Amino acid sequence: MNDGNLQQYDVIIIGAGIAGASAGYFLSESRRVVVLEREDQPGYHSTGRSAALFTETYGNASTRALTTGARPFFESPPNGFADVPLLSPRGLLFVGRADQQEALDRQYEEVSRLSREVRRISAAECLAICPVLRAGYVAGALAEPDCMDIDVASLHQGYLKGLRANGGRVVTDAEVRGLEAAPGGGWVADTKAGRFVAPILINAAGAWADVMAELAGLAPLGLVPKRRTAILVEPPGGTDSAAWPMVVDADEELYFKPDAGKLLLSPADETPSPPCDAQPEELDVAIAIDRLEKMTSLAGLRPSHTWAGLRTFAPDKTLIAGFEPGLDGFFWLAGQGGYGIQTSPSMGRIAAAIIGGEDFPPDLGALGLDRDILGVERLRR
Ligand SMILES: Cc1cc2nc3c(=O)[nH]c(=O)nc-3n(C[C@H](O)[C@H](O)[C@H](O)COP(=O)(O)OP(=O)(O)OC[C@H]3O[C@@H](n4cnc5c(N)ncnc54)[C@H](O)[C@@H]3O)c2cc1C
Repeated sequence: MNDGNLQQYDVIIIGAGIAGASAGYFLSESRRVVVLEREDQPGYHSTGRSAALFTETYGNASTRALTTGARPFFESPPNGFADVPLLSPRGLLFVGRADQQEALDRQYEEVSRLSREVRRISAAECLAICPVLRAGYVAGALAEPDCMDIDVASLHQGYLKGLRANGGRVVTDAEVRGLEAAPGGGWVADTKAGRFVAPILINAAGAWADVMAELAGLAPLGLVPKRRTAILVEPPGGTDSAAWPMVVDADEELYFKPDAGKLLLSPADETPSPPCDAQPEELDVAIAIDRLEKMTSLAGLRPSHTWAGLRTFAPDKTLIAGFEPGLDGFFWLAGQGGYGIQTSPSMGRIAAAIIGGEDFPPDLGALGLDRDILGVERLRR
């Protein structure tokens, strides 16, 4: 490490994606926070590449609880947090062929306990809601009308703006390339933008969280980044898709939804990948378009824009918020998988409460969450 002047903070956060930004936002209310981001802009990786959906029936029980617990923040953020509503109505249809109806019945049994709005609907109702669906393909669906679109850019900027207003700092072009235990306790992070020291280090490096652990001399947790492809296509002229819901195939092999006059679709791929600047593969793009053309009457579609991002999962697919056991000051905020945006208000609050030595947020506790469910011990046994 170089011997440049050490810049002293209460908390260093590695990564200015939605995880680092949300934790920094809540922590900066009471602590001096610096967020160190490798790229020249926050949100370059997974956070800027999502499908921007909020659904309380997605993921395992803890993920669903984190999402439900986040709804009040999304619906009534603090004054001045954002100039626009963070959520807007979208709706969701899980559509199935005749051979998928039993699976949809089972899914209905499970999710109707979580959302009173969920309904089982007929093929005719599906076609009335989304007229491009093929009558011969769709035999029925599960409708989740209270699923919402998230304004991800406003949410992310809201966190970062609030953090700065509280005196926190975001340093871009600041790749953390060395991590050392500080002589007096805490951690020293070495970057080309300077050296930073703090009693607490938050590892919110997304797909690189295990890489950061190894840099600090810790064993990795076995996080697996998985690539997911997204494609924008132009629907044929005259198609008014604005009010269509997000449509997901019952086996989750395709989804599509309107996006600013275009359609966003994905083959819902989950290809394991090393941490990297993920790029779409032509084959995944072709598979998505082929599946869309089988499910709908849309034809001759050409991609106008394609991208891919990494969804990074813990081995048990549960999100991680907690200190490394037996080690001072190393906090994990990782494994956000395909739910990092919709769970961020809950995860940010939980990180701030644990680091601040406060009680676990009682409203999230009432939803069945606790430190052990999200903590690191479960992955170190
Ligand atoms: C196609 C797709 C669709 C998705 N749809 C949804 C959805 O509908 N709803 C939802 O809630 N979620 C969705 N997700 C998941 C969501 O995008 C992620 O869970 C979330 O963005 C993860 O946030 P993060 O901050 O952990 O990671 P990131 O946004 O990747 O941020 C991590 C940051 O750490 C930085 N970093 C890494 N190493 C270093 C270092 N050495 N030094 C400094 N900085 C470093 C990186 O540059 C990066 O900016 C989707 C993801 C994809 C790819």
